[in-house]
Amino acid sequence: MNDPIANQLRHCKALPTLPAIAIKVIELANNPDINLDDLCKYIMLDPALSAKILKMANSPLYKSRRSASNIRQAISILGTHTIIVIALSFSLTNTFINNPIKGNGVIDNTQFWRRAIASALACRTLGEKLGLRFLDDLFLAGLLQDIGILAYVAIIPDKYEAVYTSANDHDTLLMNERLTLDAGHDEVGYALLKQWHIPDHIALACIASHCQPEPQMASTPNLYSCAAVSRYLAEYFLTPDRPENLTNLIRSARVWLDIDSDTLFEVFNAMIETLDSIGDLFEITFYTPAEIAGILDEAKELLALQTVTKVRELEEKTRCDGLTGAKNRKFFDETIQREFHLSLQHHFPLTIVMIDIDHFKKINDTYGHVAGDEILTLFSSIIVKQIREEDIFCRYGGEEFALILPGTSSDAARSITHRLQQAITAHSLKTDDGTEISVTASFGFASCLNDKPCFENPIDLIKAADSALLKAKKTGRNCIVEWNQP
Ligand code: GH3
Ligand code: MG
Ligand code: MG
Repeated sequence: MNDPIANQLRHCKALPTLPAIAIKVIELANNPDINLDDLCKYIMLDPALSAKILKMANSPLYKSRRSASNIRQAISILGTHTIIVIALSFSLTNTFINNPIKGNGVIDNTQFWRRAIASALACRTLGEKLGLRFLDDLFLAGLLQDIGILAYVAIIPDKYEAVYTSANDHDTLLMNERLTLDAGHDEVGYALLKQWHIPDHIALACIASHCQPEPQMASTPNLYSCAAVSRYLAEYFLTPDRPENLTNLIRSARVWLDIDSDTLFEVFNAMIETLDSIGDLFEITFYTPAEIAGILDEAKELLALQTVTKVRELEEKTRCDGLTGAKNRKFFDETIQREFHLSLQHHFPLTIVMIDIDHFKKINDTYGHVAGDEILTLFSSIIVKQIREEDIFCRYGGEEFALILPGTSSDAARSITHRLQQAITAHSLKTDDGTEISVTASFGFASCLNDKPCFENPIDLIKAADSALLKAKKTGRNCIVEWNQP
C-alpha cells in the first residue's frame, strides 16, 4: 500500500480510538500464556460487555448443554480463545456503532454494520457446516473484512465519496479503489487492523478474502475462503430480490468452497436459526418472523432451481439490455473498468467505439415507436454478427451503442468500424410488418496505445470516443471519426 495512505491512517483523528478494554483484550489475544484471572478481571470491568458475552455464550450459537451464569463459567465452558474473540467482536463493533465516522453521510453506518454482522454470521455458519475449527475467528474475520471502507471514509471522505458512489457492487468498488486510489479497502483494512494489533490471521482476512481464489483452494475451505463467500451470502441475505446477488453467491460458493446450492440452502437455514440471538446481541433487527418465512421459502425454491445452466442464464439476463439483447450499461461500466486495468497492466491496446444511429428520432416519427424498437434490435444483430466473441457490444443508452474491443489497436479499429459501417448501409432493415427501413450510423472511436498509455482512466477513454462521435455527427453523419491526441 502507498505510504501516504498508511500515514494518514496513523494520524487520522476521525477514526474512533479503541476503548481501554478492547486494547486489553487485544493484548490478551496476542499473548500465548493467557492468565484466566486477568481475562475475567478485564472483562468484568465492563458490565455491559460481560452481560453480552454471557448472553452469547448461552445462545444457540454454541449449542452448549451447560449454561454459564458468570464469566468464569463461560470461560470454562467455551475456553479462553472463544471468550477473547467474542469480547473483541463486541468491543470493536460497539466502538464504531457508538462513534460513527462523520464522512459525508455516503456510507450509512447502521447499514454497514448490518452487512458486517450478517457476513460474520454467514462466515461462522459456513465454517461450521464445513467442519472448520475456531468458529469465533471465522465470525470476527467475517465481521472485519470490509473495515477498510470505514477507514477510507475517515481518512479521505471527499475523494472516497466519488469512488464509493461510482460502484454498484462490492467487486466494482474494490476495482475502482485500486484504480483511482492505488489501494483497495482490503489493504487499508489490513493496515488499520495491524495498527490496532489485531492478530495477524484475522487482519489478513481483509486481504485474503478479497483475492481471486486459487484453483486448489476449493478443496480446502479455510478462514479466508469462508470470509470471501460470506460477503456474497450476506448480500443475498440482506437483499434477496436482486437477482445478481443470488448468482454471485452461487458462483462464489462454487469457486471458493466447491459447495452446491443444496449445501448453501442448509447454511442459509442454519444462519436464520441463530439470527434472532445475533440480532439481539448486536441490537440490530434483520427481519420480522413473517419476512423470514418468506425469504426462506424463496431461497429454497431459487436455490433448488439453480443448475449450472440456470445460473448462466440468469447471469446472462442480468447483463443484457431487455430490448436489443446487447449488454447493458451496468455491464459496460464494469467491463470497461476491468479491460482498461488489464490493458494498462499487460500493455495491450484497447479501443472503444461509440455508435449512434443517425436521425433516429425521424425514424420513430415516421414509422412509430414499435418499428423504432425493432430497428434497434435489428441494428444490434447486424453489429453482433461482425464482431469477435471477446468484443463487448453494449447499449449505452437510447439509440447509442458502445463497443469495447480488447487487444485492438487504432489501425485494427479503423478497419473494423469500416466493416460495421458497410454492413449497416448494405442492409435495409425489415420490420415485422414488412416495412423496409434504411439506417445509417455515426462512429467515434478512441484507442489506448501499445507503447504509451494516453488515458489516465477509463472515463477519459470514453470521453475521447464520445468527442470523436460528436465530430462525426457534426461532419455530416454516416461516417467514422478517430480521436487524436490534441
Ligand atoms: P442524431 O443523428 O443527431 O443522433 O439524431 P437522432 O434523432 O438520432 O438523435 P436524438 O438524440 O435527437 O434522438 C434520439 C431518439 O431516439 C429520441 C428517442 O425518442 C429515441 N429513442 C431512444 N430510445 C429509444 C427506444 O428504446 N425505442 C425507440 N423506439 N426510440 C428510442
Ligand atoms: Mg442518433
Ligand atoms: Mg443520440
